[in-house]
Amino acid sequence: MKIEDVTSTTKAQRVAAHTHVKGLGLDEDGKAKQSAAGLVGQLNAREAAGLVVDLIKMKKLAGRAVLLAGPPGSGKTAIALAISHELGTKVPFCPMVGSEVYSSEVKKTEVLMENFRRAIGLRIKEVKEVYEGEVMELTPFEGDNPVGYAKAIQHVEVSLKTAKGVKKLKLDPTIYESIQKERVSVGDVIYIESNTGSVRRMGRCDVYATEFDLEAEEYVPLPKGDVHKKKEVVQDVTLHDLDVANARPQGGNDIVAMLGAMTKPKKTEITEKLRREIDKMVDRYIDQGIAELVPGVLFIDEIQMLDLECFTYLHRALESQISPIVVLASNRGTCEVRGTDGIQSPHGLPMDLLNRLLIIRTDPYNREETAQIIQIRADIEGAKLEEAGLEALTEIGVSSSLRYAVQLITPAKLHSRVSGLDALGPESVDTMRTLFLDARSSARILTEHSNAYMK
Ligand code: ATP
Repeated sequence: MKIEDVTSTTKAQRVAAHTHVKGLGLDEDGKAKQSAAGLVGQLNAREAAGLVVDLIKMKKLAGRAVLLAGPPGSGKTAIALAISHELGTKVPFCPMVGSEVYSSEVKKTEVLMENFRRAIGLRIKEVKEVYEGEVMELTPFEGDNPVGYAKAIQHVEVSLKTAKGVKKLKLDPTIYESIQKERVSVGDVIYIESNTGSVRRMGRCDVYATEFDLEAEEYVPLPKGDVHKKKEVVQDVTLHDLDVANARPQGGNDIVAMLGAMTKPKKTEITEKLRREIDKMVDRYIDQGIAELVPGVLFIDEIQMLDLECFTYLHRALESQISPIVVLASNRGTCEVRGTDGIQSPHGLPMDLLNRLLIIRTDPYNREETAQIIQIRADIEGAKLEEAGLEALTEIGVSSSLRYAVQLITPAKLHSRVSGLDALGPESVDTMRTLFLDARSSARILTEHSNAYMK
């Protein structure tokens, strides 16, 4: 199994709307540029987030969390994602919404725990073996044609690269001496790469190229240039990826077995015991220098939806030795703390948790900033905007919501394409606006026609 084939369990669809965000867009002094790294405006919040990144890097945020407070669509998710980018490449970002914890099947704290583990990365350094050699001569075999074969004996997947291209040799991992051969010609350079190092039971990976005697199954080694190198490859996974992989045990209990299991994930229960075992194994790999922990960002939107039990869990989790950076978001003022007898508190958060938070405020955008954000999203989504089209979308962004305006871009692009138009104009925006409602219009229609709906 090749670790490159591992599928991760990252919630990609949740970040799709924010792919343009590449960082906080700050200069060397930590000042926010009006538009940089995909972010526009929101200068104070971005600068504050920059300081949070510094605190994290200095390991001064332990036991605390960040709260982004501001109206809907003011870029809270975008800023949280930018924080994870600033922390380094491949730092996990796990977004969730408070209401997600209420599922009929799974305990609330279990949902939180899963998301915590999605936000903690593990960077695994593996050693790959590379065999390389040039085919110098071959004996005539089929008629006058000099024919040779490269042969790989291996217990993991091997890829063979010759002048003709790259080919994966499928070897049967259950057969100790599984062999696959590939035809080669004089002058071909053969590379065979395979996983090794920390990996499970390794067979040899040999390169031979010469006449192949079918009867005797004999190979003569490459006449010249048989080189053997080791190369380091890095794989990023999250603790949750490992939980999922191990809930469906396969093969041994080393890294490749765990990673391999991820290619065919299946819903199986992840128990507390299993997590403890994974943690032990991870500790071992860290001690051996094979793996390194990469704490990422856990973003919890609509934090007021959590209840007292969840807040208690959150509190405890922040204290634990391995914790991601927790960024909470709220667009509420003072409201009831769920799970209490009507206790009112800012953002619906218990006071002891509030005291542990660094609070960053986000403000609504002005018209120009709204237009800039829409333009950035249109570029990303490959929509060519007419000036009047941008104006129409901006108007919607200002009067309804930025999120709604951004959501209309792709449908409007499709409409303009179907209408044979070169660029996206106000007609397409208007048509899409009548087809897809924003949340506010939908609520108004429900109120106005309440008699027509079932109660
Ligand atoms: P909130 O969490 O406050 O609701 P959000 O980040 O989830 O905010 P959306 O409503 O999803 O915001 O915002 C709509 C779109 O605008 C998203 O694609 C988001 O990435 C983008 N966006 C929001 N703020 C900014 C910004 N300051 N710069 C660039 N893009 C932004």
